[in-house]
Amino acid sequence: MIIQPKIRGFICTNAHPVGCAANVAEQIAYVKQQGEVAGPKRVLILGCSTGYGLASRIVSAFGCGADTLGVCFEKEPSERKTATAGWYNVAAFHQEAKAAGLYARTLNGDAFSNEMKADVIEAIKQDMGQVDLVIYSLAAPRRTDPVSGEVYKSTLKPVGKAYTTKTYDTDKDLVHEISLEPANEEEIFNTVKVMGGEDWELWLQALNDAGVLAEGCKTTAYTYIGKELTWPIYGHATIGKAKEDLDRAAAQINQRYADKKVQAYVSSLKALVTQASSAIPVMPLYISLIYKVMKQEGTHEGCIEQIYGLFNDKLLADAPETDEAKRLRMDGKETNDATQAKIKALWDQVTQDNFHELSDYAGYHHEFLRLFGFDVAGVDYEADVSPLADW
Ligand code: NAD
Repeated sequence: MIIQPKIRGFICTNAHPVGCAANVAEQIAYVKQQGEVAGPKRVLILGCSTGYGLASRIVSAFGCGADTLGVCFEKEPSERKTATAGWYNVAAFHQEAKAAGLYARTLNGDAFSNEMKADVIEAIKQDMGQVDLVIYSLAAPRRTDPVSGEVYKSTLKPVGKAYTTKTYDTDKDLVHEISLEPANEEEIFNTVKVMGGEDWELWLQALNDAGVLAEGCKTTAYTYIGKELTWPIYGHATIGKAKEDLDRAAAQINQRYADKKVQAYVSSLKALVTQASSAIPVMPLYISLIYKVMKQEGTHEGCIEQIYGLFNDKLLADAPETDEAKRLRMDGKETNDATQAKIKALWDQVTQDNFHELSDYAGYHHEFLRLFGFDVAGVDYEADVSPLADW
């Protein structure tokens, strides 16, 4: 099959296995070049197939030399249809891990369910004994409550008052204004149910109850805090409320498993192109502008650079520096006042006419295509490739 990108709105509905494998190989090469990270040897990664979770798995395996167990929610391929990118990423990761003599196992299914928690515990008991690092990197639009069976959907809306702002429609190549009505209480509650800390706590509880949480285990969930430009639609909006709930959950986990010396952190990462962020209004515009500014400053980073830095400098350190809410911060190069001022200046000027000149949309779009294994250097997109892959 000849595989070319099929873009629908903010998503690409197919993926290229060879391009995805090249992306994984590139991230592994980056980590190997940086050098070893002293750290855990048995790591569970929830949301292991793309974005920050995939990078966390790669740093665990190829930086720390860890055995990794991953959970993801991806679509497998058929003779006629490609898999999702995450599927190919996992297949490529397994191949590389095997070649390096590293244990890797991945379970595909709903991480919010009790069944998946039971399957993961079984796998840990069989193959690893216990885990000493748990990465929580799920990004999902809905969650089925494992007890009530009720399905909660998240919304991306401001909280308190309506908000009108600029946005960029990647599909129509159009800079325009959007007005977002504020969320009601139910929408806020539902978003917290999906993207807040409840499921992270349930995971820790299940692992602890089953005796597979090692003494001194570390765990982190990822957040985005941002600054004034994104606060109305992110930090102070429904998704921000859910992210605040992660702070509550971290404190709860620390308290509950203090006798086991479990350490839970919320880690704040920078904004970049992933499948999750491209679905958030305003983010494609904001990210295209920060790419421009941060590339000029020489501070641009992708998932793998952020996560290598997080593991090496903060998460695995004995007494890492935290912010006032006890979070680990990797977003300083984006959120510092000088950089934000430059982004704000561009934001104020940007119009339909000058968008491509003022922003790095070319860089954004390239990164977007790469998420699905397209636009990757050295890959022959005219070649006939099999969409089938397994792990
Ligand atoms: P992503 O879309 O690339 O990855 C999401 C992962 O979750 C994938 O592995 C997917 O398979 C998995 N997943 C989704 N639903 C699942 C389910 N029901 N069961 C099992 N697995 C499921 O997203 P990302 O951008 O890497 O986001 C990961 C975390 O990082 C999120 O908490 C996000 O808020 C945070 N974060 C993202 C950014 C950013 O700019 N992208 C910035 C800071 C923090």
